[in-house]
Amino acid sequence: MFTIKKFKLLFRFLLLDVFLLNSRIKILRSRDKLASEEMNSLQNELLLKSILKAKKILPAYRELEVPADSSEIKEFIRNNCTVITKNDLLKNRALYYPNGGKAHFLQIVGKSSGTTGTPLEIYRSLNSILWENSFVKRHWQSVCNVKMVKRATLRGDNIISVTQEKAPYWVYNDVDNQLLLSSRHLSKDTCKDFIAVINHFNPDILQAYPSTAFQLAQYASTNKIVIKIPYVFTASEMLYPYQREVIENTIGQVCDFYGMAERIAMATECRFKNLHVNSDYSYVEILDENDNPTDDVGFVVGTTLHNHVMPLIRYKLSDRTKWKKGPCECGSNYPMIEPISGKFEDIIYDIDNTPISPSLITFAFKGVSNIEKSQVVQTTTEQWEIRIVPSDNYRPSDGDQIINNLNKYVSKKINAEVIIVSDIARTKAGKYRWVLNETTNKTEE
Ligand SMILES: [Zn+2]
Repeated sequence: MFTIKKFKLLFRFLLLDVFLLNSRIKILRSRDKLASEEMNSLQNELLLKSILKAKKILPAYRELEVPADSSEIKEFIRNNCTVITKNDLLKNRALYYPNGGKAHFLQIVGKSSGTTGTPLEIYRSLNSILWENSFVKRHWQSVCNVKMVKRATLRGDNIISVTQEKAPYWVYNDVDNQLLLSSRHLSKDTCKDFIAVINHFNPDILQAYPSTAFQLAQYASTNKIVIKIPYVFTASEMLYPYQREVIENTIGQVCDFYGMAERIAMATECRFKNLHVNSDYSYVEILDENDNPTDDVGFVVGTTLHNHVMPLIRYKLSDRTKWKKGPCECGSNYPMIEPISGKFEDIIYDIDNTPISPSLITFAFKGVSNIEKSQVVQTTTEQWEIRIVPSDNYRPSDGDQIINNLNKYVSKKINAEVIIVSDIARTKAGKYRWVLNETTNKTEE
């Protein structure tokens, strides 16, 4: 039946995808194999435009004497623009927001989910949103090598009422070739239905949070149901090695995506498992705690290239990573970074205050079964809780094994206890945090 809703969707599709997105994706794909020097000049030109715009509309940058030559722009901002954080935006709205901090009616107000408690408003132009979507679609297309990607989506979207107790827990968006599933309804009782509908849809990709793809893979593997999708595109949460392993063994190859509400950095994982920073999306620096460039692990600092209604310049995140040297087999010259090692406020420590990497913590779960969900939480400076949602065959010895493994493979200087819980709460956006420090991180998004 040709409903008005479908007509609207079709209209949106024609307008957005055919006229507005496709031309942008075409431009982006033509840059896939651009030489480093050409990419650098392009980035400089975009950066110069962004800085000039910031000077024009943001009081913080009004006095800048911006050079005319784009080749000098990176050095110029390093010397003239201080590194700013979310706190600066919250405290000095008059300096960093356009129009005295009041959004124009044509500006779209995006909100960061606020892992540190306070959500942040970012004004976005329609143009920057179109570019954002084009960059995302370019990632899918360049990995899958098809133009019209068929996708199943299992993220935190509110598709149906949380109280609904009967299938269907999904909707089809056939105009955009998408099967949209409600991750909030995925459980051991419903997973068979989820997998059946996904298999019938036969998508090119699964678009998911690492935790939702992992949950699906775990159910499929426990119930010995085959689910094959060539690629799983994960985003919005930390992707842990234990999740990748289960997802790849059960569903398909994982391609991770790194982005954030502030839109000051984007990194996309290629088929050769390298995370490439998209240099034409933003200008990314990795800086140490004194805001100096480092080849070691540092903070991600980025400058907007496409959002001209509220450019963010040298905006520092609490995410940390380091540059990865060398070429990639995929042929892309976009620079590479190591996987993001989590938010600074999520780091957990042993009793000597030594930070413990989440990748290392995964060893505590080695060979342990009968666990449906888990979360590792630092509750005080000397205490960890291993929260476990047990599956039917769980025995206390499974929990003991985790504590033993923790002391054996991770650190002897950890006091941890296993706490059995009925569920592990997700954040409002439906996101899941596997490692959490509750001593530094009292609020959740
Ligand atoms: Zn690559």
